[in-house]
Amino acid sequence: AAVPSDSPTIFDKIVKKEIPATVVYEDEQVLAFRDISPQAPTHILIIPKVKDGLTGLSKAEERHCEILGRLLYTAKLVAKQEGLEDGFRIVINDGPNGCQSVYHIHVHLLGGRQMDWPPG
Ligand code: 5GP
Repeated sequence: AAVPSDSPTIFDKIVKKEIPATVVYEDEQVLAFRDISPQAPTHILIIPKVKDGLTGLSKAEERHCEILGRLLYTAKLVAKQEGLEDGFRIVINDGPNGCQSVYHIHVHLLGGRQMDWPPG
């Protein structure tokens, strides 16, 4: 498992377009792009362009409420854009027990197949 840290991550490079990603939605605050290792027919990551200390959800402060809402709202927009009218799943992994591997907060949007519950 990755060690939690506030250092720049691969996602900063994706935001700066220093490494390629398949971007499906972008505005001033957020970026959404396809996961490099998709776990479902649709697997998209939604991130804030500026991390502002939000390595993960467990580091959220009151000032992050707006961007946190925007991440979820973007997930809804992208789900619609991807044609996921039969449903989808949102996941935020946090910390070692949550299997978080990139310490720049991100929302996973998964869809296009039946999901299992409870997750493993
Ligand atoms: P986590 O495990 O931290 O919740 O999710 C990190 C996700 O980022 C993983 O699903 C992983 O496949 C994805 N990922 C890691 N590196 C890259 C990359 O360079 N490009 C893209 N598009 N996805 C990445």
